[in-house]
Amino acid sequence: MSLPLLPTTAVGSYPKPPYLLEARRKHLRNQISREELTDLEQRATREWMQIQEDAGMDLFVDGEQYRGDMVAYFADEMAGFAIAGLVRSYGNRYYPKPVVVGPVGRKAPVTVEWYKFAQSLTKKPVKGMLTGPYTIAEWSFNEHYPTRRELVLELARAIHDEVIDLERAGAKYIQIDEPAIHTRPEEDFELATEAMEIVTNGVSAYTITHICYGDVPKIYPAMLRLAVNQLDLALKNEEFGLLETFKKAPFTKDIGLGVVDAHSHRIESVDEVADGIRKTLKVIPAEQIYVSPDCGLKTRTVDETVGKLRVMVEAAKLVRSELTGSRAHARA
Ligand SMILES: [Zn+2]
Repeated sequence: MSLPLLPTTAVGSYPKPPYLLEARRKHLRNQISREELTDLEQRATREWMQIQEDAGMDLFVDGEQYRGDMVAYFADEMAGFAIAGLVRSYGNRYYPKPVVVGPVGRKAPVTVEWYKFAQSLTKKPVKGMLTGPYTIAEWSFNEHYPTRRELVLELARAIHDEVIDLERAGAKYIQIDEPAIHTRPEEDFELATEAMEIVTNGVSAYTITHICYGDVPKIYPAMLRLAVNQLDLALKNEEFGLLETFKKAPFTKDIGLGVVDAHSHRIESVDEVADGIRKTLKVIPAEQIYVSPDCGLKTRTVDETVGKLRVMVEAAKLVRSELTGSRAHARA
């Protein structure tokens, strides 16, 4: 099934409904079984698939209801990792930081069953969702490999195998999240580029990488060399200031255009979001634009998320109709 002009999608995570948060707490205290928790994760996934359907989105995500943290989830499921305990990130957020204690690799496919479950619930395409090797390495302690480079490349081979398994399971769109890719741009953006080449080597599915916030101008236009079809980026949180950067060298890939702020409670207006898309059209052709939130939405409430998705879809429809209207007019 082909996507419309300005297809709408999401970056990855949706908030977990209160019953699932409660179930996760109970599971940690051994008060409910893994099977009971999985049932509720599936229930929440079904609800998010229906919400995307109702909102009229084009390219779905499974919402990551089964994940705590995007790196710890993969570390938990793969060989070679232990969990070090909670590490403070920004503000008062804590996250479990994995430790590499042996050779890293997959014990079994990590995300394929969740992909298949989500895809079985809709006729719309669902993205396969992975965390990239550079980010897994960057957000872990390395106590095993002599160099970070060896760790990153070994993880890249493991994530590549996961990409191949997702493709075999039917995924036409596969996203490899690399939010940490610009942590040390001078030092090893080349390493991140080399790792992505391994991850997507020989893959025919459409590939995406999500890079959020941080110093994007510092890795532009180098980031256009990443071996993916689409770069998914946050534009709204800086009111589309990044477009100035993209004027310096043509944006040669597709863009996942973040048009709603993932970290604000306020639900944007349709006009405001449509304006953001229109501004972008002056810099990047419509055929290259996918419309998306800035980042995963797991820190928003369910209501805020539904509101933002609806506004995003309405704004994309509005601009799409303006474009097809003006094109029809131009041909007449
Ligand atoms: Zn992000």
